[in-house]
Amino acid sequence: MSPDTYKEPAPYHKGEANPFESMLIRFDKACKMYNLDPGLYNYLKQPVKQVIISIPVHMDDGRLEVFEGYRVIHDNILGPSKGGIRYAPDVDIEEVKALASWMSWKCAIANIPFGGAKGGVKCDPSKMSQSELEKLTRRYTSSLLEVFGPDTDIPAPDMNTNEQVMAWIMDTYSMHARKTVTGVVTGKPLIIGGSRGRTEATGRGVMIATMAALEKKGVKPEETTCAVQGFGNVGSVSAKLLAEKGVKIVAVSDVSGGYYNKEGIDIPKAIEYVKKNGSLKNAKIGNKITNEELLECDCYILVPAAKEDQITGSNASRIKARLIVEGANGPTAASADKFLERKGIMVIPDILANSGGVIVSYFEWVQDRLGYFWDEPDVNNRLMRMMNEAFENVYKSAMQYETTMRLGAYIYAIDKVSKVLKLRGIYG
Ligand code: GLU
Repeated sequence: MSPDTYKEPAPYHKGEANPFESMLIRFDKACKMYNLDPGLYNYLKQPVKQVIISIPVHMDDGRLEVFEGYRVIHDNILGPSKGGIRYAPDVDIEEVKALASWMSWKCAIANIPFGGAKGGVKCDPSKMSQSELEKLTRRYTSSLLEVFGPDTDIPAPDMNTNEQVMAWIMDTYSMHARKTVTGVVTGKPLIIGGSRGRTEATGRGVMIATMAALEKKGVKPEETTCAVQGFGNVGSVSAKLLAEKGVKIVAVSDVSGGYYNKEGIDIPKAIEYVKKNGSLKNAKIGNKITNEELLECDCYILVPAAKEDQITGSNASRIKARLIVEGANGPTAASADKFLERKGIMVIPDILANSGGVIVSYFEWVQDRLGYFWDEPDVNNRLMRMMNEAFENVYKSAMQYETTMRLGAYIYAIDKVSKVLKLRGIYG
């Protein structure tokens, strides 16, 4: 890959706030409704630590390439900070800051003893060899040895990082520690301290949150249709598990575009197809539509499970779904909120809907520390209990403050984190 492969990061949707501002717009509203002390507001608004590093890598063709890497710790009030690492050409510090704060709120809502963090490296992994990715990952990890640790900051997979990347992180950290430290990272392969059910966990959580929302609405899953944007780990598993519950999946999409079939798409077949062919391109599963059309198609449930800022002020008023369950982080820009609210669309926010991943990451960390591993039904049952409890807590908070599930979720998290912060006090 030549250095000029890198283009300026694409600007956020014209007129949209960047992801961190988008997070702050909701956070500010929730703080006002909750009447949070201004000092605590200032404390919780900004991350406690932001690290930017240079990662030199000898590429396969002998050139030396330098990548930019980030790790942002939003807070460590509830416990060690937790959050994934994403590899993407357009990732930047603002996006990582937003994602780190979302992790804080997500962990607080899920009732797990973690603060929030996120990492990223500006690179295009689709254009890199395994050996280049390994060198990049190991150098990134070794530059962050003082930050990472099972009791301090615990990374995990996110966009374009996987079990193999987690294994390299675990190994690099362990080599420096002169012992195997499995609990330093989650989302590892099962045979080196991973947890059963971790790969499916985010999608399973999306399914559980959707079922809980349908129950509140008094609608049976078999009476509903659903469109899923994104067919990666989160989108495909959400679609598969929702279909198993009787929901008819009428549209799916990935980088190759969208596919609509009002008779319902055979999801296991689509998953098989992607395994063989790398994407849904040319899969005969429905009529070709664009990703934009998918968001606006005729369906009851919409699961945006791709990336940030997909539902915006410009398309929100055309959305027909009655329920949006956010599989991705930040798929709805703040500018869309008022349109969705006006239309009475129930939105299960990312910080609740996609928390299945970090909940099972917590289980993985616990199992690593215990050295005792649970079977899959055990993991899935615990996940179901915790997700349902989190859903109820957010629902109650939304009712109490007569607001949306999104603001209810923020308020629940702010209440919890600020109470713990007051109890611990400010040192110094
Ligand atoms: N990257 C996932 C998320 O955004 C999982 C984070 C984790 O397991 O720590 O929730």
